[in-house]
Amino acid sequence: MKILKIAHLYPKLLNIYGDGGNILTLIRRCEWRGISYILDEINVGDKIGEHDIYFIGGGQDTQQIEVAYELQKHKDFLRQERDRMSVFLGICGGYQLMGHYYKPHEGDKLPGISLLDAYTVAGNNRFIGNVTVKTKFVTPETLVGFENHSGLTYLQGETVPLGEVITGNGNNGKDKTEGARYKNVFGTYMHGSFLPKNPRFADYLLELATGEKLSKLDDLIEDTAHNALINKSY
Ligand code: GLN
Repeated sequence: MKILKIAHLYPKLLNIYGDGGNILTLIRRCEWRGISYILDEINVGDKIGEHDIYFIGGGQDTQQIEVAYELQKHKDFLRQERDRMSVFLGICGGYQLMGHYYKPHEGDKLPGISLLDAYTVAGNNRFIGNVTVKTKFVTPETLVGFENHSGLTYLQGETVPLGEVITGNGNNGKDKTEGARYKNVFGTYMHGSFLPKNPRFADYLLELATGEKLSKLDDLIEDTAHNALINKSY
């Protein structure tokens, strides 16, 4: 199996509510299977080379501003990576910047890199609480996490939701969608962090990135954490 190349985008700026735990989950699930990987931390001013998986976490509006304009330098390259079917996972603020734009309450519209056909505008309420989603991408078909955002995201074109909201608000609290997918680009509002409590989704991303079916792991602890959150609102 090839050495998996993982890029953690702007962790010094977008890494709120423990989103770095998503990277830990990916590398631990590689280590437990003996899969070799390289983890590159990409910060402002760094070049970005080809990777198999890109991860970007969430953050407040102020951190998003700096990252939004830094990402514009890499927009064409990252869209080529998307079209090469590299895997992307963006959480909340990072997810918002994977769309066309994010219009915060104050200030100008922040440009996105349009990996997803989606856009976000700040709403008047802040959505805070646990989220349960019904998805068709993994079995069992639930994803759980924690949301804390005022942004309202709307999907267009061929970009489809990660799933249907069972509890919580999701993308906008209106259309019962949560998250997004286009090709192998995934976004979600679910912090938590997301992947530790959704081990099958973590493996789904690893299988997309490696192109291989992976061995099963003992996920008793992860599944216990996952099941404890299903349909829990607060
Ligand atoms: N600043 C964005 C919002 O409030 C994203 C927040 C986050 O990443 N948790 O919608």
